[in-house]
Amino acid sequence: MATRNIRELGDEVLTKKCREVKEMNDRTRELINDMLETMYEANGVGLAAPQVGVLKRIVVIDIGEGPVVLVNPKIVETDGSQTGSEGCLSVPGKAGMVTRPNYAKVVAFNENMEEYTIEGTELMARAICHECDHLDGKLYVDLVEGELVDVEYEEE
Ligand code: ZN
Repeated sequence: MATRNIRELGDEVLTKKCREVKEMNDRTRELINDMLETMYEANGVGLAAPQVGVLKRIVVIDIGEGPVVLVNPKIVETDGSQTGSEGCLSVPGKAGMVTRPNYAKVVAFNENMEEYTIEGTELMARAICHECDHLDGKLYVDLVEGELVDVEYEEE
């Protein structure tokens, strides 16, 4: 496993629509492992493949409950709404208020291309919606209500 460079706001790759994964192979498995390592290294709760420059419909999420791998995810149900602060590893040092569904249900494939369903509320629903948006070239900065604000990082 290795970490990969996270692409930042202004990079064209973040605005492109990603392609579906047709079959799992070693290269894509390596990509998924690298995405997980990159997300953990950056202390993020989610990462989408275009953020490391790969236009494939793959998302990894870990809100502190273990890694979730979503290949070709489709949001099939949402409910309610939540408004809260959101950030993105591709927009370092910034955050903004975004309204998202409070519940989201997703059908996706895992790293073995087995179809499964996952659902979540609050932070998980927010992460699912945010990361799936990346696969269609959408960034949260376009959804921010008010201004983007600077976030101070704690020294490690
Ligand atoms: Zn993001």
